[in-house]
Amino acid sequence: MSSDEPVSTGHLPAPSDVTRILAAGHQRYLELNDGQVADYIPALAAAEPDRFGACVVSSDGTEFDVGDSRHEFSIQSVSKPFVFALACEALGAEAVRSRVGVNATGLPFNSVMAIELNRDRTMNPMVNAGALATTSLVPGTSASEKWSFVVEGLSAFAGRPLQLDEEVYQSEAATNLRNQGIAHLLSGYGELWFDPDQTTDVYTRQCSLLVSAHDLAVMGATLADGGVNPVTGGRVVSADTARRVLATLATSGLYERSGDWLYDVGLPGKSGVSGGIVTVAPGKGGLGTYSPRLDEAGNSVRGQALTRHLSRHLGLNLFASSPLVPERPRDAGG
Ligand code: GLN
Repeated sequence: MSSDEPVSTGHLPAPSDVTRILAAGHQRYLELNDGQVADYIPALAAAEPDRFGACVVSSDGTEFDVGDSRHEFSIQSVSKPFVFALACEALGAEAVRSRVGVNATGLPFNSVMAIELNRDRTMNPMVNAGALATTSLVPGTSASEKWSFVVEGLSAFAGRPLQLDEEVYQSEAATNLRNQGIAHLLSGYGELWFDPDQTTDVYTRQCSLLVSAHDLAVMGATLADGGVNPVTGGRVVSADTARRVLATLATSGLYERSGDWLYDVGLPGKSGVSGGIVTVAPGKGGLGTYSPRLDEAGNSVRGQALTRHLSRHLGLNLFASSPLVPERPRDAGG
């Protein structure tokens, strides 16, 4: 896609308004204590449930922070769109689509049934089967080459070198029999492109990278800004890749709640079980939230509420419009 191709975007409100709306939203949902911290990965159960931070980064690189926006947590599933973006960039969006798929499963993120029910086996990169397949596809002939590719790429999105949370990694690696099973099942169907155990290991590492809500907002802003990180000024992926990744998020970023999310928020987003959510307002900027209490699908409760608030009050919903010409009074005779 050429850089002068027309796009349909606007811009964020004035900085003072963004600051005020972000602070008000954070304050409003501070008392929302619904949901549970994830504990199926033992180390995640140690999260401090009251942490709550958020950040907005505009496409011109202006950063707005509130609360625990610099508190670090493991990225978990929020890594999926960014690794998918890197794979599309390296292999071509069509090549990745034909192997991984881009349709919603409507089933939980770690569903084995979704693999069995679908003839193509993986259906999209935002659930574990498709994410494992995506990680198996990234450039590199060894696990360490693939891991370097992933960590460097995710760091470019964040604009700083990301570090592994060794404790979370060890904890998940010791307990992720289900993901190992999914990788072996895919491999059995000929739908994994690297060794299943090593793929699961690279995937588990990718999920254990430490980020903050601030990092997520910068990463999201990179997808909002045609693939260029607006803080560092460096291109990470092409505008074409960014656009396609956002489309997959719109259908499946919040697992089986993706329809509810799009209905309420009207923006592509991705959640993870440690409590992070990244949301992208194309052309305008990225939002990052962190709060570890989750709903039953594994999405942060406060993060969803605050993002809904921001989408509405910052005017971000992609589906919202108002009449160009003022409404005409009805014809008396009509
Ligand atoms: N690493 C986690 C898993 O594979 C990520 C899941 C998530 O954040 N939804 O189970």
